[in-house]
Parts: sequence; structure tokens; C-alpha cells
Amino acid sequence: MAGRIPDDIGLLAVSKTFATERVREAAEAGQSAFGENYVQEGLAKIAALEGLGLEWHFIGPLQSNKTRPVAEHFTWVHGIERLKIAQRLSEARGTTQPPLQVCIQVNVSGEASKSGVSPDSTAELARAVATLPNLQLRGLMAIPEPTEDMALARRRFAMLRELRDALNKEGLALDTLSMGMSLDLEAAILEGATIVRVGTAIFGERA
Ligand SMILES: *Cc1c(COP(=O)(O)O)cnc(C)c1O
Repeated sequence: MAGRIPDDIGLLAVSKTFATERVREAAEAGQSAFGENYVQEGLAKIAALEGLGLEWHFIGPLQSNKTRPVAEHFTWVHGIERLKIAQRLSEARGTTQPPLQVCIQVNVSGEASKSGVSPDSTAELARAVATLPNLQLRGLMAIPEPTEDMALARRRFAMLRELRDALNKEGLALDTLSMGMSLDLEAAILEGATIVRVGTAIFGERA
């Protein structure tokens, strides 16, 4: 698709709300990276499937009182939108594990969305997060407003790519664009997604 080899694009299987056994089946079929939105649910699956060598990504909103278990048990956190959360994750991660891999969530949809840092504030937050010792800032993440309008979806994703490229020109080394879900995958891939986060299209509709 889009003239890009599939190896460039990581598939994150979003298993939130689906039973641990569904994750096990997907793992047996060769999927290794899974995304969870809720801390308790994610921790239960991580414990149940320990030993399968799976990589767990926390992709939901994160409150400051839940940073410790996330820092200890997940490999990635996609939705950093405040420095305080990043600082707490870095402290809780400690030095006995490899750095926690993180993305900053950017609001690319203006008033149509409430989550994510504004594009104007992204550089400042990125520079601060990049200095935290036990985190590795990998890139940017976005959840644009749902739309059937392919051109609009592409503009939202292009904005995230342009922001990432501008930060790299300033000296950061961001290799990740976490963007695209079941309904806007194609637009995201066309605009350079490196991780697509796909739930429904893999596991079916959530209850
Ligand atoms: C639920 C969720 C997804 C997956 O959404 P689908 O529409 O089921 O593919 C991706 N990213 C985030 C942040 C989510 O919360």
C-alpha cells in the first residue's frame, strides 16, 4: 500500500476489552505487540501471558496515580500529553529496565478533539520529555476526529508528520508516527505512519 513495504509499519493489535484468550490466539498466529487502554485490564493480561515474549503498549489516557504500574510493566506509552506524567513515568521506570519508549500525543484536530497537546506546544513538551533519563522519546501519536473524509484525515496525519520532521530538524531523533486505527488506516499509512493501532479490524466489534 502507498508504495511502502509493510516492514516499515508496525501493527499494534489493540486488545482492550477482549479476553486474554483472544490475545493468546493472536500471539500464536504471530502477532507480538498489543495495545491496552485500561491499567488493571492490561496488567491482568500481561501477568496471564508472561513468558510469551509479548510487547505491551499503553495507549489510553493515564492518570498520575497509575504511572507506577504502567512504567513497570509496559514497554511503550503512546499518549504523553503532560510533562508531569512523563516525569512520574521516568522516576517509576528506574534504571533496572531499558528506557520506557514514549510518544507525545498531539491534538491535530483543533476544537474537534480534547486530548493531546496543541501543535504549538509540542516542541516545548518534546524537548523536556527528551531530557528525562529513563524514557526514550520515540515520536508522536494522534487520534484525529473520526471522519469519512479521506482528504481531511490525510491533512490531520500530514500535520503530525510535519511536526515530527520539524522536531528532527531541531535535533531530536524521532522515528515513530503512531497513527491510524481501523477506520482511518489507509490515510495514516499514506501519510507515513510507522505504527498503526488496530482493534476492531482484528478482533471484531467491541461490546
Ligand atoms: C481503541 C483504540 C484504538 C483501536 O481502535 P479501532 O477503531 O478498534 O481500531 C487505537 N488507538 C487508541 C488510542 C484506542 O483507544
